[in-house]
Amino acid sequence: MTMPPIDHVSAALARIAPSRTTAMTDRAIALRAAGHDIISLSVGEPDFPTPDHVKAAAKAALDADDTRYTAVAGTEALRAAAALHFGRDLGLVVPPSQVIVTAGGKQAIFHALAATLDAGDEVLIPAPWWVSYPEIVRYAGAEVVALPTTAAGGYRITPAQLDAAIGPRTRWLLLNSPGNPTGATYGAADLAALGDVLRRHRHVLVMSDDIYAPLRYVPGDHATLAVVCPDLAPRVLTVSGVSKSHAMTGFRIGVAAGPDWLIRAMGKLQSHTSGNACSISQAAAVAAFTGPQDFLRDWCNRFRTRRDRVVAGINAISGLSTPVPDGAFYCMVDATAHMARFGDDEALALHLLDHGVAVVAASAFGGRGGFRISFATDEDRMDRAITRIAEAFG
Ligand code: GLU
Repeated sequence: MTMPPIDHVSAALARIAPSRTTAMTDRAIALRAAGHDIISLSVGEPDFPTPDHVKAAAKAALDADDTRYTAVAGTEALRAAAALHFGRDLGLVVPPSQVIVTAGGKQAIFHALAATLDAGDEVLIPAPWWVSYPEIVRYAGAEVVALPTTAAGGYRITPAQLDAAIGPRTRWLLLNSPGNPTGATYGAADLAALGDVLRRHRHVLVMSDDIYAPLRYVPGDHATLAVVCPDLAPRVLTVSGVSKSHAMTGFRIGVAAGPDWLIRAMGKLQSHTSGNACSISQAAAVAAFTGPQDFLRDWCNRFRTRRDRVVAGINAISGLSTPVPDGAFYCMVDATAHMARFGDDEALALHLLDHGVAVVAASAFGGRGGFRISFATDEDRMDRAITRIAEAFG
C-alpha cells in the first residue's frame, strides 16, 4: 500500500483557500516591517482605540486572577450581557441560555455550520460575500449556492431570487446586514418579503450576521430577521460581537443567539475546539455591552465622514466607481474599465500594493473586476491612499 506523503492535508482542508483578507493584511504588515510605506485598507477593523472602560475591565479581570477556564458557552455574566445587547441593540429578546460566547464571530459561524451541515447540503450565500462564508461551507462538505447581487440592486437579494434558489437540500441562507464587503443593508420591509418566502420553505435555517449593526449611516432602526419575522426566530441564528462596534478585534469575542438545540450543538463542538473564549476578553466584553454606548454616535459620524470622502475620491478617478454603502466600513470598487490592463483583479490588487496601498481583490468576495476598500482608517492616511490609487491608475 502506498503511504500518503508526510505533508498530506485532509480532503476537507484541501477544499478551502486561506482567508484572502487576512493574507493581504499579513502581507501589508510584512512589507511595513521591511521598511516599505504601505497604507493598509485591507483589513476590516476600526482604527479607534478600545474604549478605556473596556480596557479597565480587562486589567481588573487579570488582577483578580480571572484566568481560568470558564463554562464553554461563556460566563454567566457575559451571556446575560450579550442577551442585554441583543435586546437593546437589535430588539431581539432572548434568555441568556439561548446565547453562546465564541472566540470571535467567525467561530460562531464556523461552529454553527460545521455542527449542522452534511455532504450534499446546500448553503445560499448572497454574493459578493464575506470571504470566510463559502470556505467554511466547503470545509463542512456542503455546497455553496451563490445568489448574485448587483450595485444597482443595492447588493440585496430579491424574494423571487431566494425562492428560485431554495431546493430540497438547502440547509442555510446566510444573511449579512449591514454587509461585508458592500455595506448592503436590508430594511424591515426587505426582510419581511424574504420572510414570506422562508415561511414556505420550512427546512431552511437562516444565519443573520449582524456584526456591523451598530455601524449604519441611514436613518431608522437596524432590522433583523428574527425580530421582523418572530415566527421564524426558532430557525434563525443571529450573530453579533464587540469586534467592530467596540474596536475589540484582538479580544476575539463573538456572541450568537438562536434556538436551544443549535446553541447546544455549537457548544458541543466548541467543547472540543477552543473550549471557552478567553476569560479576560469575556470580562472586557461584559463592560463593552453593559457600559456606556454613547461613543458609538461619534464613531459612526466619523465613519460616515470617511465613507463620503472615500466614495467621492474613488468616483473622481477615471474608470473607478463605487456606490455609497449604507453601513459597515467597506466600499466595493468597480474597476472593470481597467481590467484589460491587469488580466485579473488579484494582479490589480498587487499593482496597488506596488503603489503602497493594500486592498483586497473583489474575487476574494465572490465578486469580480474590482477591489474592496476598508475605510476604517484615519482621514489623513485615507487621503494619501486615494492619491496613490489615482496615481496607480493614471
Ligand atoms: N472581517 C474582517 C474583514 O473582512 C476581518 C478579517 C477577516 O476575518 O476576514 O476584513
